Amino acid sequence: MAMSLSEEQAQALSAETLVVAAGRPPRERDQPVNPPIVLSSTYFGTGPLADGERGYGRYANPSWEPFEEALGQLEGATLPGLLYASGLAAASSALSLIPAGAVLVMPSHSYAGSLVMATEMAEKGFIELRTVDITDSDAVREQLAPAAGRPASMLWLESPTNPMLGIADISALTEAAHDVGAIVVTDNTFSTPLVQQPLQLGSDVVLHSVTKYLAGHSDVVLGALVTSNPDIRKALLHHRIIHGAVAGPFEAWLALRGLRTLALRIERSQASAVVLAERLSSHPLVEAIRFPGLPSDPGHQRASTQMKGFGSILCIQVAPVAGLDGAAAADRLVQGLKLWLPATSLGGVESLIERRRRHLAEPLSVPENLVRLSVGIENVEDLWADLEQAFALLEG
Ligand SMILES: *Cc1c(COP(=O)(O)O)cnc(C)c1O
Repeated sequence: MAMSLSEEQAQALSAETLVVAAGRPPRERDQPVNPPIVLSSTYFGTGPLADGERGYGRYANPSWEPFEEALGQLEGATLPGLLYASGLAAASSALSLIPAGAVLVMPSHSYAGSLVMATEMAEKGFIELRTVDITDSDAVREQLAPAAGRPASMLWLESPTNPMLGIADISALTEAAHDVGAIVVTDNTFSTPLVQQPLQLGSDVVLHSVTKYLAGHSDVVLGALVTSNPDIRKALLHHRIIHGAVAGPFEAWLALRGLRTLALRIERSQASAVVLAERLSSHPLVEAIRFPGLPSDPGHQRASTQMKGFGSILCIQVAPVAGLDGAAAADRLVQGLKLWLPATSLGGVESLIERRRRHLAEPLSVPENLVRLSVGIENVEDLWADLEQAFALLEG
């Protein structure tokens, strides 16, 4: 489907406008202003498929294309993105770019699913996995090209990391990776292109769990990859076709619908996160807080240079209270909330909270008493009042 914005038009628009204007059908009299949902598993045709023809529902669907176009433009890419059935389906496709037996360097605190996938690939002998503290640039350089050992062929970046909120120096690490011939994949789920644009910082591929901020309403599971490199895109598209983790047309439509309000949602939730972080940092039952927006945070300086705002995820460690260790106190805090939703995931309009170590796959280096808060778009005083009353129950 031809889109209404050319690459030049898109480049001239701010991201706040682009989320609304991108991925619209052509301006033709009496045509819908929103792209339709197309339910078809196949397309008319005879003879060999010409370049760009859809052919079959696992190869292409007109319902994916507006979102792919919009996300590509938002990340500043020269090519449309690729939509997948989930963020991890996108991760699987990205990891398929590693040649057999080659080296992957990954943050020791990455999204748990990405880490499990890479670990299992390594256990089967498909790749060599080196995990590293991504906030320590010298340690990353050492893993990319050790004095004794092979150089890496892929660097996986996540910044801020989930759930430790460590900040990687994306430009410096990307340069170091390219120096040894490695390609760089950056998971940009926590930031979205409105807050951070990894392709502009040198990354080769950007990954999104569209499930989170981009769709934004906790009602779809989808993923995406974006690259400006035609050879990489071709390899990823081939992987999507052959491995088959494709998006449903309705989910793609919901994601585009959600994207329209992304700028407003990010503006509100980022502002609220700063307020809540400041208040939580002085609460007596908060043992530690991680949020790159706090000047005292170890990642603050770095985040200020590569992010526009600081995201709206923050993590606290809950102090032990009479009779309860930190983990039990954290569980009690979560259970005492009436507005915040105790659930996994993040990036929706509704504020979500969970103690991360309730997941068995979570790395053991994540503290037992660490609670991750995904700040939504509710009134910040209502969110704070709910936290205060749940803390008061703990002090009980
Ligand atoms: C949720 C998430 C993923 C996985 O995405 P799904 O859509 O759940 O498959 C990957 N990376 C990050 C940072 C995430 O938060």
